[in-house]
Amino acid sequence: MLKIEVFILLPAFQTNTWLIWDEKSKQALLIDPAAPDSSLLELIKKQGLKLQGIVNTHGHGDHIGGNSYFQEAFGCPIMIHEADQKMLVDNKKNLSEFMGTPLKLEPADRLLHDGDIIELGTHQLKVIHTPGHTPGGICLLAGKLLISGDTLFELSIGRTDFPKGSHEQIIDSIKNKLFILPDDTVVFPGHGPRTTIGMEKLNNPFVR
Ligand SMILES: [Zn+2]
Ligand SMILES: [Zn+2]
Repeated sequence: MLKIEVFILLPAFQTNTWLIWDEKSKQALLIDPAAPDSSLLELIKKQGLKLQGIVNTHGHGDHIGGNSYFQEAFGCPIMIHEADQKMLVDNKKNLSEFMGTPLKLEPADRLLHDGDIIELGTHQLKVIHTPGHTPGGICLLAGKLLISGDTLFELSIGRTDFPKGSHEQIIDSIKNKLFILPDDTVVFPGHGPRTTIGMEKLNNPFVR
């Protein structure tokens, strides 16, 4: 069984950091660590979870700020889509300079592509490339669980007014790559509450 829990490590941005783990093997992935956080680090250790990797759904500062901290603690690889890899090593591209907190930067260890599989115990997370919010934005799908980054939110979608954002692309990504999933797929977004694909297909005012 896969377990998933949310942590808000950067209250100013309300970024959802997701910890997802396989109950049996205790293998875990940390998705979008927003900032260094000692209580999350202790919790991972206390639960005996084996962190297999850090995955960034995209390269914005509020989703990568804890990369170095958790990588140093657990020695695990950092993964991001290849089209966002430069955002990890450029404080202008990842916007952290403008957020007032330039980040300590580590390059990715594994570059992700559409259709790639990330193993987690006996489970598999499939990488779905969903450009629009950023060129290398991804969602992660495991069965009926979808981590949607800043692509799809409850009744909203990611901003496309940042450099290299594209409204046309994000709508195309959502319609053709996410809204084809079963209605009861549960969506765990980069900000705000969880939702479902069925709920968003019916009610999301941005995708018509
Ligand atoms: Zn973002
Ligand atoms: Zn965000």
